[in-house]
Parts: sequence; C-alpha cells; structure tokens
Amino acid sequence: MQALNLDASTIMVANIMIGFCLTILLSFSLLDHITCPGMRFWSLSFLAWTIGLVCMLSRMYIPLWISVCLGISLIVTGYSLMWLGILQYKKTYSKKHLRVFFILPVLIILLWLLSLHSNDIYFSLRTSIIAIVISLLSLLIFSELITRRKRNETGRLLCAITFFVTVLLMIYRMVSTQYLDVPIKLFDANSSNIILMFGMGFTLLVTGISVLIISSQWLQNRLYVHATYDALTGIYNRYALIELSETLELTANLSSKLWSLIILDIDHFKAVNDRFGHPTGDLVLQNLAQEIKKTSRHCDIVSRYGGEEFVIILPDCNLSDAANWAEKLRIKIEQMEFISEHGPVSFHITVSMGIASATQDSWKLAQVLGRADVALYNAKQSGRNQVKIDQADMFNK
Ligand code: GH3
Ligand code: MG
Ligand code: MG
Repeated sequence: MQALNLDASTIMVANIMIGFCLTILLSFSLLDHITCPGMRFWSLSFLAWTIGLVCMLSRMYIPLWISVCLGISLIVTGYSLMWLGILQYKKTYSKKHLRVFFILPVLIILLWLLSLHSNDIYFSLRTSIIAIVISLLSLLIFSELITRRKRNETGRLLCAITFFVTVLLMIYRMVSTQYLDVPIKLFDANSSNIILMFGMGFTLLVTGISVLIISSQWLQNRLYVHATYDALTGIYNRYALIELSETLELTANLSSKLWSLIILDIDHFKAVNDRFGHPTGDLVLQNLAQEIKKTSRHCDIVSRYGGEEFVIILPDCNLSDAANWAEKLRIKIEQMEFISEHGPVSFHITVSMGIASATQDSWKLAQVLGRADVALYNAKQSGRNQVKIDQADMFNK
C-alpha cells in the first residue's frame, strides 16, 4: 500500500464526495410524484454518514474526542436509519423501532472515555467497540434485506451483499488492530487504514446504487400490478388479457392447439345495484371473480373485461369441453348466495355466457371475442341464465 503512496485522508475526502453526491441524488428522488417507502430514511442515512465522515476527517483540526464521538455516533445513526428505511419498505416499521437510537448515548459515553487517552490499548479497544456495533447493525440490515425477498428484487440482494461485506470489513479491522500492525491514528499510512478507507468508499457507493435499484424496482412492480390487475376484483384486467392472448395466439398456432373463449355477463346487474346499492354490487363482482378463479384451471386466463363482464380464455380446450365447463360454472353461480350490505337480505344472481373457439381462419383474440359476443347476445335474447355457443362453431363442436 505504501509503495502506491496511497494516503488515507485523501481516500476519505473521496468517500465524503461519494456520500455527498449520493445524499443529493437520493434527496432529489424524494421530489418525485411517487416515492418508494423508506426513501426518506435512506436519504437521511446518507446525510448522517457523510457528515459523520467529515467529522472523522476533521480530527486534524478539532479535539480527538469530539471527532470520534460525533463522527461515530453519526455513522451509527446512518446504519440505524438504513435499517428503519428497510422496515418501512417492508411495511413492518413502527414507532417502537426508533428505540434503536438508545444505543447512541451509551456509545458516546464509552467513546468519550476511550478518546481521552491516545495510546495503543485505548485505540484498539475503541476500534473493537465501533467494529462490533457496526457489524451488529449491518447483520440486522442484512437479515431484513434477505428475508421475504421476491425473486426479482435484485436491488435488495445487492444491498444485502454490501452489508455482508461491511461485516467482513469490520472483522478485518478488529483483527488487524488487535493482532497485525496497530494503527495508532486513523490517517496513518498502513494497510489496515487504507483497506478500511477503500472498503468504506466501496460499501457507500454500492449501497447508494442498490438503494436506487430497490426504488426503481419497487416502482416497476407497482406499475406492473396497476397495469395488469383489476383494482376491484384482483383478477387480470382487459389490458393484461390482450397482452397474454398475444403469447397464447402465437404458441397455439405454432403447435396447432385449440383454445376457447367464454364471455360471461351478469344478468340484470343494474337491478342489483338499484336494489341493494353499489357497494353490494361491488361485493358481488368480487365474489363472482373469486368463484370463477377457483373453478378454473391454473392455465386459464380469467379477466374482468369491463363493468360486469368477464372473459375467460381456456387454452388446450375444445368447444365441447368449454361448453360443459361453462354450464357447470353457470349452475354454481346460480346457487351462490349473496347478502345485501343494507340488511340481512339474501339474493341470487344469474349469468349468461357466450362461447367460441379459435379456428384456422379465425384465431385472433378480437375475432374469437366477436363471435363469443354474438353467442352472448343470443343467450340474452333467449331469456338469459344460459350458455350459448357461437353458431359458426356449432359444426366444429
Ligand atoms: P343485462 O342482463 O342485459 O346484461 O342487464 P344489465 O343490467 O346487467 O346490463 P347493463 O349494461 O344495463 O348494466 C350494467 C350495470 O353494471 C350498470 C353498472 O352500474 C353496473 N356496473 C358496472 N361496473 C360496475 C362496478 O364496478 N361496480 C358496480 N357495483 N356496478 C357496476
Ligand atoms: Mg354487460
Ligand atoms: Mg349484464
């Protein structure tokens, strides 16, 4: 290290600049229209880390005990804020977690006592205490980041790895000050100090990047959920149906497989709303969606196409099987009992369904949907509460 002429205080200045840039970057992201939960804590933690590093560096100009007490307590505050941010991100944060800051007064008193003398034993004792506290907090952050993580949350994984590296760095620091070369001052040119400075810069930078990745993945996930699922029933929406059908059309055509489509419409639903109120109508839609989902196979695409209309795509299913399944579903729905929100009044609903299958000359979603819609119209015209098959498909049945 000395051969490279690396200077610990210069690396510290670089770390402060990294911390400063990341603090500004994260603070700016708070101005966005939608902010990732935890981001407020995370930007504060970078602010605490950066000021903490400035305090550590300024020991050349201010008394050692002030530099150590202020610097380390701010750095520990940064780790605590990072942990609180992750709890908030995971929606497990509560005010009681703020108790983590109780560690600060104890730590400040200990560091103050150990900073009064600048000899080897006091230095290594002080270093060990700091390393243990930071390691414990890093382990806490690591475990929060790694547990209940979804597969696509790679930002969390990267952040977890960074805090694991911090633990290793702290262990190395403790061992090196105890048994290897003992650095009496933080900015002396020796391998332990230089590795510590580089390690701090690396973890600061990668933590900042991973926090930005976490935030962007959170936003992507949110957008995906809103664009894919219906807010009331939780099943696929019309947009998702169109997207998913494109893949289905392609694979079904390539392997010459059949697929069928059912369009289901609640009979006289307007009357349900008029009699029992809109909230009860909403409840009917939710329960009905769950019933269809429960009755369907895992590969079926169940979607809310609009108001009280549902579209179900049945891959690998011919018209006759689709009609049998639809009839069973119709009977199940007829038997379902709904309770009005306005009082203990129970009522039933019925549904009409139109079915069509993809054929060699008519296999696009819009075409099959159009034919199923004609069949639905027939079902309504024939008195409702029934399943009708597309007339053109009757011959293929
Ligand atoms: P038909 O048997 O001919 O289908 O009669 P209908 O009353 O079911 O059909 P119409 O198209 O006249 O009315 C549909 C009703 O669905 C009107 C609308 O208030 C209701 N509706 C649409 N979306 C929602 C919703 O999200 N919640 C509730 N509660 N009602 C809805
Ligand atoms: Mg309708
Ligand atoms: Mg209707």
